Amino acid sequence: MEKNSTTSRQKQSKTGIPNIRVHELAKQYNLTSKDLIKEIETYGIIVKTHMSSLSSEAVELIEEQRSLRSKSEEKDVSLTKAKAGKSEAKQQSKVEVEPKIDQPERKTKKEGEEHKRKAVEAEVVSEEDTEAKSVPADNVPRQIQEGITVGQLASQLGELKSTELIMSLMGIGVMANVNQSLDYETLIAISDQFDFEPVRQLTLEEKILAEMEESDDPEDLAPRAPVVTIMGHVDHGKTSLLDAIRDTNVIDTEAGSMTQHIGAYHVEYDSGNLVFLDTPGHAAFTAMRARGAQVTDIVVLVVAADDGVMPQTIEAIDHAKAADVPIIVVVNKIDIANANPDRVKQQLMEHGLSPEEWGGSTIFVEVSALEHTGIEDLLEMLLLEAELLELSSNPNRNASGTILEAKLDRGRGVAATVLVQDGTLEIGNPFIAGMYSGRVRAMINDQNKHLKEAGPSTPIEVLGFTGVPEAGDRFNVVSSEADAKKISGKRRGEYRQSQLGPKSQVSLEDLFDKVRTGEVKELNVIMKGDAKGSVQAISGELLKLSADKVGVSIIRGAVGGITEADILLAVASSAIVVGFNVRPTTEAMQLSTQENIDVRTYSVIYELISDIRAAMEGLLEPEMREVIVGRAVVRETFKVPRAGTIAGSYVNWGIVNYNYPVRVLRDSILIYEGKIESLRRFKDDVNQVSTNYECGIGISDFDDVRVDDTLECYTLERVARTLSS
Ligand code: GDP
Repeated sequence: MEKNSTTSRQKQSKTGIPNIRVHELAKQYNLTSKDLIKEIETYGIIVKTHMSSLSSEAVELIEEQRSLRSKSEEKDVSLTKAKAGKSEAKQQSKVEVEPKIDQPERKTKKEGEEHKRKAVEAEVVSEEDTEAKSVPADNVPRQIQEGITVGQLASQLGELKSTELIMSLMGIGVMANVNQSLDYETLIAISDQFDFEPVRQLTLEEKILAEMEESDDPEDLAPRAPVVTIMGHVDHGKTSLLDAIRDTNVIDTEAGSMTQHIGAYHVEYDSGNLVFLDTPGHAAFTAMRARGAQVTDIVVLVVAADDGVMPQTIEAIDHAKAADVPIIVVVNKIDIANANPDRVKQQLMEHGLSPEEWGGSTIFVEVSALEHTGIEDLLEMLLLEAELLELSSNPNRNASGTILEAKLDRGRGVAATVLVQDGTLEIGNPFIAGMYSGRVRAMINDQNKHLKEAGPSTPIEVLGFTGVPEAGDRFNVVSSEADAKKISGKRRGEYRQSQLGPKSQVSLEDLFDKVRTGEVKELNVIMKGDAKGSVQAISGELLKLSADKVGVSIIRGAVGGITEADILLAVASSAIVVGFNVRPTTEAMQLSTQENIDVRTYSVIYELISDIRAAMEGLLEPEMREVIVGRAVVRETFKVPRAGTIAGSYVNWGIVNYNYPVRVLRDSILIYEGKIESLRRFKDDVNQVSTNYECGIGISDFDDVRVDDTLECYTLERVARTLSS
């Protein structure tokens, strides 16, 4: 069965040359799939995704067009070659990998890699160049190192007088004298005006880390196992699927082997190895990403064949897409009598996942996690996808990876699961992980075996940390324990500092400043609403606001209240969250405050659009910002003669105050807005009730209050626009 599907994926073209996938070709040209897709669009070849196949005719056309273009570019390139900066180095590499004009067939992989190596060298060289004073040439903006003084900058820019520069700086609100050093953000703000390219100065930590994360010589790279995360709606069978896969694992059949939960496990299958993260769910996935960690190579989206696409299915798709991770769909529970896999396929097509057999590019596998059918087919498909992704890493270097989970264990100290992503981790290696350093004392795998070393794509429990790191923290082996301590100490200092002030996130108030300094190029929006129609209408209006300087991108538009998962996605994608007739859950509200995420809720479309337009133009007025005072949940209701329905409520957050307006929320959707008519504790009228107390609440002109409704007290405060970025 697997054999069939494998061969059907390598379709033959008319000429007998096997088709090539977009991402494979992109790799040969040393381009990202996205860039290649954009480029070939200009040749009239439209493809859907990086997984789309290109016929040999299409490839021929692409080669022809590219060599024509390379001819015309050759001249420019030779001009700029010697003094190219980083971005130019990339461009060069593009040109370098272009096939020679008279070379009819595509490059072999080896040649491609040779070019990649050159490109990497070019980048390294260009970075070194920037240390020294760079020589400007036609069309190449001069590179200016962060930390330069006003005087030095003026002299480097030639004609410019220091006073002129100082005036310009004043124009953007920076008061500086000649001897003052300019930071990166300030340089960015004036770089357009004086036509130079600011270069960030690396800190000691960045330098050490940059060395550690240096790219590898392609010859040192070896294929590595894919890391898979399973996502999907609750009860669709994620846990059962993980269990079924674990049972298929051939190493499990070894007598006496005992598995232990370390947050991930590896599977040794006949045709290759795989790693599964066994904390299913998109919250874990996005929480990792919010910390800057991308550990997943492939997402398996589980959809129950008897239930079809559900809200969390769509949420999972949004999260996987935002992370740019390929999705393989598992249609589960096909053993059930009313299972309808075709309906699942149809529903998913509406969300951009079209099955290959219907001309799309998404792999669908039908399984029954319960009966263990289709599991091997799934493993085959995952390995095939991994092969296409050409996942590789260098086992012969200092290890680096990501913390998957960590705990304080009585008797053993800190135990953290590290996913080794690159290099080989060995007993005794000094390391830094987030804010802590350490030395590897012991390594235990998911089979409870003690290991002496662990290579790429190995999840391993590590002992020897000086503190508990967080899931998603980077893990790096460094050359000396002294370096490790220095960096971890500095990070702890920075952390304490960062806890003092609010974290920098995008908000409507400072959007314009961030656009001006180049920090933000696109406003990412998560849009939640009470109905599909309104979400679509508002998303459409928002997209229309896209302007030259800043685009608008709706990374998630969905029906429902604002949840913690939305906030996490906002953190991971630097987005703002907009609700139309819906409200955040209490957990989402707390998380958004903690993470400094701008959550805006509206009940008038016009106000929503005009606020965002104003923010983009830097014209957002000091505004009346709503502050939630408290929330209570309705536990029972009583009918009281003359007073109407009274909500017997429990205040679970903040205070409920008689003098503030109140809202009634049902499943995070706004039902009613009005005033509190009566607020009582036992028999007494009171002005306010605090957290963890019960009370009776009557709402003016509203009788339909129900058990489990949330009552929200709020007030409006004037907030001044902040000028800082
Ligand atoms: P999760 O919430 O996505 O992790 O779902 P679970 O793995 O806990 O499964 C939810 C329920 O569906 C459990 O009662 C499972 O026994 C059942 N289930 C999972 N896979 C299958 C399947 O392939 N066939 C049938 N009939 N039931 C399944």
